Order: sequence, then structure tokens, then C-alpha cells
Amino acid sequence: MLKTIISFIIQKSKLLKSLKFRILVIVLLVGAVSIAVMRAGILNDYLSRAVSNQTNTAVTQFRILSNHLSKVKFLENKEDYDTDEELSLFSSFFNGRILIIDSNFRVVADSYDMSVGKTMVAKEIINCAGTGSVIQNYDDVNAYIELAVPIFAPDNKSVQGVIFASSSTSTIADNLDVLSRKNDILVVTLISLIFVFALIASSILVNPFNKITKVIDSVDEGFGVTGVKIPDYTETEAIMEAFDKLLSRMKILDDSRQEFVSNVSHELKTPLASMKVLADSIRMGDDVPVETYKEFMDDIADEVDRENKIINDLLSLVKMDRKAGKPNISMVDVNLMISQMMKMLLPIAEKSNIELIFEDKGKQIAAEIDETKMTLALMNLVENAIKYNKPGGWVRVDTDADYQFFTVKVSDNGIGIPEDSIEHIFERFYRVDKSHSREIGGTGLGLAITRNVILLHRGAVKATSVEGEGTTFIVRIPVKYVE
Ligand code: ADP
Repeated sequence: MLKTIISFIIQKSKLLKSLKFRILVIVLLVGAVSIAVMRAGILNDYLSRAVSNQTNTAVTQFRILSNHLSKVKFLENKEDYDTDEELSLFSSFFNGRILIIDSNFRVVADSYDMSVGKTMVAKEIINCAGTGSVIQNYDDVNAYIELAVPIFAPDNKSVQGVIFASSSTSTIADNLDVLSRKNDILVVTLISLIFVFALIASSILVNPFNKITKVIDSVDEGFGVTGVKIPDYTETEAIMEAFDKLLSRMKILDDSRQEFVSNVSHELKTPLASMKVLADSIRMGDDVPVETYKEFMDDIADEVDRENKIINDLLSLVKMDRKAGKPNISMVDVNLMISQMMKMLLPIAEKSNIELIFEDKGKQIAAEIDETKMTLALMNLVENAIKYNKPGGWVRVDTDADYQFFTVKVSDNGIGIPEDSIEHIFERFYRVDKSHSREIGGTGLGLAITRNVILLHRGAVKATSVEGEGTTFIVRIPVKYVE
């Protein structure tokens, strides 16, 4: 029971959230309100027209009667003049009661013959007698019209008396009733038509969004559905453009992931293949001398070291890529960090007869960085400058800083990088000369790690090189760490 209630509420809230449903409700509401206003307008218009028609006709008629009464000097010679016939004629025409009142507010004639001789002081009568103008009043609650028309003296135009008449508007009310019933039928028909229209319109209006859902649903693993246009609305066009951009980005990511996986497999397989060849040749050979065994085992150990280095480099890269691998930021003396790092590299530099120079301009540079990661990044640059050098060459590191950034310049006069390779050197596993890099123990991951560390610090790195003359890397890092 509870389950059905909950699922009903969920379904209901889904319906309320649906654009189709909302369009339907809005169109219906606007339609219904307009029809209601129109209906009220028509009925009110009819009522006011009918009342004013009835009033105007009566005013004309009573003016004629008033002129006639004044001409025959009725109020002066009441006894000589019999008004009964005239009053009953007007009364039946007017569908109401007519009183003739003299200047003392006494009733001198009454079409109902009930109030003759009585005094009548209604507001309308006093007003009419005082101003000499016709007073009319419509009482919509009790449904009748009241009229007070002045009777003037024939000579001096002074008010001698008042014709006071009241007439029921029941005929108008009956007509209104019929009209309103006819209107109701029209209203129901119109609302039904609007409902059908709203149903069709909401389906048509929402259709482009259904098309978008279908396109998104049809996207398979290969992100193949690009360039689909749904130009029905500016909005759908914009959504599809954004969706295309997203797809392209995902495709690039997917491609690079696949390329990375195949590169990793290839790189990991190379040392394994070498080990297999070395092991097989010992196994197959008869009477292999101990020296050869030792030599081959040394080679196998070297390959294991290589495999280990690739795996370690890959792990550093993956750790850097992961969002969770947040940098461990502290305030670091950059020059001190670099001079310690250069000390570590001195033995390999000396081995290749390379001169290491460090120039810090005597400035103290304090920066918020991850010391371990930044050391690794700069070490890769200096190590490369030593590795890809010529015997007797030099490697020079310069540092400088302003209040916003510090820069580290690593330059060498080594073999340099060809122009068409320079834009690729930061890619994973890219090497200008694969066999040379492999010979000197490169994995092709060093610069990728360096670039990732620098990006992690919101910094930038730029390489310039002249083949055969040397290479310069310039690293620029914000002094204050930006989250
Ligand atoms: P590797 O492990 O092969 O050194 P890196 O990512 O560190 O990989 O460098 C990528 C490639 O860029 C190297 O193989 C090398 O060809 C080139 N390279 C990097 N630094 C230098 C340099 N200072 N001088 C010349 N070539 C360089």
C-alpha cells in the first residue's frame, strides 16, 4: 500500500516536472482565463446595453408625457383631467409603475392607484425637482430601473412636478439567462478545442528534446555520433553543439587512453623480450662458459632495472593525473632546493665530463611548492641536459623571481632537438631517437612527468632548441600556490 502511494507520488512529481505537461497546463490556463474574461465581457456588455436601451426609451416616452401634461396644465387642473388611461398605457408599455408627483411631493396620480394623496420624498424625486433634469438609477440587486422626469410649467420653465417611474428589468434578466446558457455551451466547446490544441502543441514543441534524448541514447562506446543537428530551436542547436564538443573531447580522451595503454604494453614488453632472448640463449646453448652466464645474467638484471624504472615513472605519472594526488605544499627555498638537487646529479655529470653551472643571482626565492615533486620535475630537465650532451659540454641552471613568479632556466650545449620534434617532447613515451634514449636509460616519460608537475603548480614550461647547438627549457611557477 505504502509502496503504491510512494510510486504514485514519484510518478506524479515526474509528471509535474515534465515540460510537455507544463506547456499543456499553461496553454489551457491562458485559454480558460481568456474565455472566462470574454464570457463575462459579453454578458456585462449585453446587460449594460439592454438597461441603457430600456432607460433611454423610457426617458423619451416620459419626456413626451411630461410635455403633454405640461401643455394640458394637468398639475393646475388635476380635477378636470383624467390621466388613468394615459398612465395605464405608458405603464404597460414601460412594464412598471408610474407616479405623478406635484411640487409639494404629493402623489397626484398612480398607475397602481395605491398611493394617491400620499407624500413621497425619494432622493431621485427631490433631485429631479431641484435640478430640473432627468434622474435615472439602475438597481442591479433588485433588478429595476427608477426614473424621475421633471414636468415644467408651460410658461416659465420652472419645475411643477415630477413623473416618477420604476420598472422591472426581469425581461433583461431572462434574456441574460438564455444568453449565458448559450455562452456556457460555447465555453465548453472552446475549452475542449483548446485542450486538444494544447495536447498537440505540447507534443510538437517538446519533440526536438525527445530527438536530443534519442541522439544521446544512440551514442555508443565509439563516440561515433557527431555532427547531428537539431535546428528546431536556437536552444536545441546550442545543446547539440555543446554535446558535439563534449563528444569530441571524450573521443580525444578515449584515443589518448588507448594509445597510452598500447604504448605502455609495448614499452613493458621490450625489456621482457630481451630477457627472454637472453635466458633462451643460455638454456639452448651446450656447455656455456660461466663467464657467459654471468654476462647474460648481468644483462637480464639491467633489463629488470629498466622495467622497474618504467613502472616507477608510470606510477609517478598516474599519481599526478589522479585528482586525489593533491600536492604537498610548503614554503620552500627554491635556490637551496636546486643546489641540493644539482649536488645529486654531479656524479653522472662528471662521469660524462659535463660541467654543471648554477647561477642564482644572489636572490632569495621562497615559493609555495611541493618540494619532492618540483625536485623531480627539475631533475628530469637537468638529467636530460646531461644525458643528451656531448663530452666536454656544459649544463647551466639560472633562477630568477619577481613578486609573482619564479623562473628556472635549464640550458645546455648538447645535441639539441630537431625543429619538428620540439612540440612532441612532452608527450608520454615520445623520444627523438628511440634507440639512443634506450641506450642511455630513458623511458620517454621524464618530460611528461615534468610537465604534469608544472601544471599541477599552475605554471608553464617552454623549450627552445637548435639542433647540434643546444637546448633551453624555461619553467615559470607562481610564487604563491593557487588551488
Ligand atoms: P627520456 O626518458 O627518453 O629522456 P624525456 O621525456 O625526458 O624522455 O624526453 C623526451 C625526449 O626529448 C628525449 O628522448 C630526447 O630525445 C628529447 N630531449 C629531452 N631533453 C633534451 C635535451 N636537453 N637535449 C636534447 N634532447 C632532449
